Amino acid sequence: MLGRVRSAVAQLVGALGPAPGAQPPRDSPPGPGPGPGPAGGAFCRPAFLQLTSEELQRADDHAGRAVQSPRESRRLPWSTGYAEVINAGKSQHNEDQACCEVVVVGRRCSPQRGSLAPQESAVEAEEGRTELGFHYWGLFDGHAGSGAAVLASRLLHCHIRDQLRDLVDILQDSSPPPICLQSDWRVLPAERGQAPLSEKEVELPNDALPRFHLEKAVSHESLVIGAIENAFRRMDKEMEWEQTTQLVAGGCCALAAVYLLGKFYVANAGDSRAIIIRNGEIIPMSREFTPETERQRLQLLGFLRPELLGNEFTHLEFPRRIQHKELGKKMLYRDQNMNGWAYKRIVEDDLKFPLIYGEGKKARVMATIGVTRGLGDHDLKVYNSNIHIKPFLSCVPEVRVYDLTQYEHCPDDVLVLGTDGLWDVTSDREVANVVTEVLMDYEPNDPCRYTVAAHELVVRSRGVLKERGWRLANNKLGSGDDISVFVIPLGGPGNYT
Ligand code: MG
Repeated sequence: MLGRVRSAVAQLVGALGPAPGAQPPRDSPPGPGPGPGPAGGAFCRPAFLQLTSEELQRADDHAGRAVQSPRESRRLPWSTGYAEVINAGKSQHNEDQACCEVVVVGRRCSPQRGSLAPQESAVEAEEGRTELGFHYWGLFDGHAGSGAAVLASRLLHCHIRDQLRDLVDILQDSSPPPICLQSDWRVLPAERGQAPLSEKEVELPNDALPRFHLEKAVSHESLVIGAIENAFRRMDKEMEWEQTTQLVAGGCCALAAVYLLGKFYVANAGDSRAIIIRNGEIIPMSREFTPETERQRLQLLGFLRPELLGNEFTHLEFPRRIQHKELGKKMLYRDQNMNGWAYKRIVEDDLKFPLIYGEGKKARVMATIGVTRGLGDHDLKVYNSNIHIKPFLSCVPEVRVYDLTQYEHCPDDVLVLGTDGLWDVTSDREVANVVTEVLMDYEPNDPCRYTVAAHELVVRSRGVLKERGWRLANNKLGSGDDISVFVIPLGGPGNYT
């Protein structure tokens, strides 16, 4: 399967060609990084926008920053709203990508496990065998070019489909999950009565502890979460392979929502965000993964594998850079086990640059990158060194689940997915207010209302161009980043198609 996807990707990326004027990684200084090969795939926009070449040019204009949405004739599933805008000039092209698909999962054929190609799945479906369907929305915020985000937007849902193939029968079986004994089980005499021992049973001494080893009852929900986690891993592996061929450089944050059998699974790896707005209430469906939020995980890795720090960095955190003249003095610090701060006496090793440095949006891992989860970045190194960043970046998403069947939803209840360009300048509450305000102006059954809401969120977060740059209504700086937003309705007639 992997080989087939690889060859498909090779064709895809080959057709895309190199990105002219590819930029250095987002939030990172220029460095050796990807090497001399083409950095990322060529600029393109989500296929569902169906932009003409003229529209594509307009969408790529930093000065005008025109907001793009799907045409009315090209409505997304559930009448999902979508809008995007290019950055104010931080990179040549819009490095965000988006995908919205309805995906059919064919049951895997047992004789050739793991060998089904997409077209074989379709044949299987035609033959009337068991199959599942899921709805999928994905946002990918790229850095160091658009290649990684383009690749993920075109393939991540295929990896999720592939991981779900083994579960087609299990997920459609409503009986409770079985509890099984492991193969090395043993039975206490008291619990098995006086029946004769079989070959697999061992008589235990009377003082032995009970040794029934029960497998955990694994819920259907956990199986889907595991499938999505593994799909992210496969996608990352795929990207690693592409990056060794120099066809795709850089990386991307990934935020994906999967609707399957009545539940939303929201998977996040990076600093994009998802919230549900239900009857005006905000329900967080993700959290951001940054050097600050993942400090202890990063410090633990640096502590366990100091060779990854290249003798240049210390895994300890200090409130500020320590100067040589402070050797032997006491200084506040914290390590991988600490939430609070304590004093230590400064030694030579503490003079190294901290693994995590800076605050808020300026916090960096090894002075290089401001996100700690995502796909790709296999080629990213610390500036002017041979120290790889990737071991500290995890491709595994956090998956949160929302059971749609547990609540009555009205047409104004929505799931909002946005890249950090939205959330940097617009709070959760402000997003909820804008969405509510827009939806109130439209009939509940008007399918355009979610697109207008997405459009309005992007316009308000971008701001308007004034003498001193893009400004919000309150005259604060608007978002200069790429902005991409999905507004997905959770209720209302005719949405679940
Ligand atoms: Mg961004």
